[in-house]
Amino acid sequence: MKGPSVVVIGSGPSGFYTAESISKKLNSNIDIIDRLPTPFGLIRGGVAPDHQTTKKITAIYSKIAKKEQVNFFGNIEIGKDISIDEIRKIYDVVVLAIGSELDNKLEIKGSNLKGVYGSAEFVGWYNGHPDYVSLEPDLNTENVVVVGNGNVAIDIVRVLSKTSEEMINSDIPEYALNSINKSPIKNLYMVGRRGPIEAKFTNVELREMGNLKNCLPIVNLDLPSKVVGNYSERDQRLIEKNLETLKSFSLIEKNNKEKKLNFNFFQKPIEIIGNERVESVNFETTKLEGTKLKSTGEINNINCGLIISAIGYKPKEVPGIKISNGVVKNNNGKIDKGFYAAGWIRRGPTGVIGTNKADGELVADLISKDFKDQNKDGRKSLIELIKSKNLKSTSFENWEKIDSYEKKNAVEPAPRKKILTIKEMLNLCNI
Ligand SMILES: Cc1cc2nc3c(=O)[nH]c(=O)nc-3n(C[C@H](O)[C@H](O)[C@H](O)COP(=O)(O)OP(=O)(O)OC[C@H]3O[C@@H](n4cnc5c(N)ncnc54)[C@H](O)[C@@H]3O)c2cc1C
Repeated sequence: MKGPSVVVIGSGPSGFYTAESISKKLNSNIDIIDRLPTPFGLIRGGVAPDHQTTKKITAIYSKIAKKEQVNFFGNIEIGKDISIDEIRKIYDVVVLAIGSELDNKLEIKGSNLKGVYGSAEFVGWYNGHPDYVSLEPDLNTENVVVVGNGNVAIDIVRVLSKTSEEMINSDIPEYALNSINKSPIKNLYMVGRRGPIEAKFTNVELREMGNLKNCLPIVNLDLPSKVVGNYSERDQRLIEKNLETLKSFSLIEKNNKEKKLNFNFFQKPIEIIGNERVESVNFETTKLEGTKLKSTGEINNINCGLIISAIGYKPKEVPGIKISNGVVKNNNGKIDKGFYAAGWIRRGPTGVIGTNKADGELVADLISKDFKDQNKDGRKSLIELIKSKNLKSTSFENWEKIDSYEKKNAVEPAPRKKILTIKEMLNLCNI
C-alpha cells in the first residue's frame, strides 16, 4: 500500500530535510517544488560565495533528490503559477518550506534614498540570485555602513573587504567581483544597537575578520572584562570567546591594510540624510539598563554612500497563506490537516542550516500520525496541471545539467560560474 502523496514547497534545507524524514517514515512519493529552476534555496543564493565548504551540504541534498520516491519540479511558483488550493486538491499532504525571502526594512527617515539596500537584495546580488543580478548597487564610495550585528552583516563586510585573491576560490559572479574591486571603499562600519555581549555573530565568522589581508578590524569601545547578564553556561562561554576575539583585534599589525572595518556598538540608526542618494546617516548612542535599551541623546554622523541593513527577514505574502508574527500561522508545524510548515516559514529566520533538520523530523512525525495511505494521486495530477497550464518546469536532471555547465565554465580554482538568468537556464535545458 502506498503512503500519502506529499508535496514540499521550497527546496532549501528545510524542504530537503523534510523530504528525507518523510521518505524514512512513509512509503510515499514526495515531490519538491521550487519557484527557481535551481534547488537549494539560501545555500545557493544566501550563504556567502567565499564559504564554499558550507555549500557542500548540497551533496547530501542531491542524494535525497535522487531517491526513487523523490522528484524535483523547479521554476514553479506556488501562489502564482499554481494556487495553494489547487495544490492541496491534488496532494494528501502539502508542506510549506518557502523560507523568509524579504528584508526587514530600516523604518527610519531617508531609508528610501538611493544607495540603501536590504541584505536579501545585496547578498542576492553578490551571489548571482536571478531576482537581484540587475540590482547594480553603486559602490563608488569610500564609506559603507552595514546595520546589524549578526552573521549576515559579517558576511557582507567580509565580502566587501576581501581582495580578489582572497575570493579566488569563491563563486562570486564576475560583475560583483569587478564592482567591489573597482570601488574605492576604505571604511566599513558594522553598526549594532546593542553591545558586543548581545551581538548575534558567531566566533568562527568573527575570527575570520582578524585574518583578512587588506582589512583591519577596529572596535569602538572599551570591551567589558566579564559577561554581565542572564546567560546559560554555554552562551556565556561563546560570548567570552567573542570578547576575546574582539580584544585580539587591537594586536593586529596595522601596516599595509587599506581597508578598516569599524565595529560600532551601542549605535542606533535614526535618520539617513541625502538628496536623491544617501550622503550620511545619523546614529544615536544607546546604553543598556538591565536588558532595556535606552537612548542617550548623543548623535553621531557617519558619511557614507552605501547602507546595507542586515536586520532580519520576513516572508513573502502568498495568496492562501496567513502570516502572523513573521511566520505562517501554525501549531508546532501544523497549519491544518494535510497542510504543514517547516524551516524559516514555520519558526522564523533564525538558526543555522542544521537547525532545519529538526523541523523536517517534526513535520514527518505529524504526517505519519495523521496519514497512513494514499488518497490523492499527487504527482500524476501535478504533471497534468503543469501541462494544462503550459508551465515550464525543470527536473533534477535539468539542474544537474546546469550544475555541470556552471562547473565546466569556471576559471580554476573557482568552483563554478553561475548562470545568472532563468531564461539562460531554461535555454540550456531546451525548455
Ligand atoms: C545571507 C544568509 C547567509 C547564511 N549563511 C549561513 C551559513 O553560512 N551557515 C549556516 O548554517 N546558515 C546560514 N544561513 C541560514 C540558512 O541559510 C537557513 O537556516 C536556511 O536556508 C533556511 O532554510 P529554509 O528551507 O527554511 O529556507 P530557504 O533556504 O530560503 O529555502 C526556501 C526555498 O523556497 C523557495 N520558494 C519561496 N517561495 C516559493 C513559492 N511561492 N513557491 C515555490 N518555491 C518558493 C525559494 O526559492 C527557496 O529555494 C544564512 C542565511 C542567510 C540569509
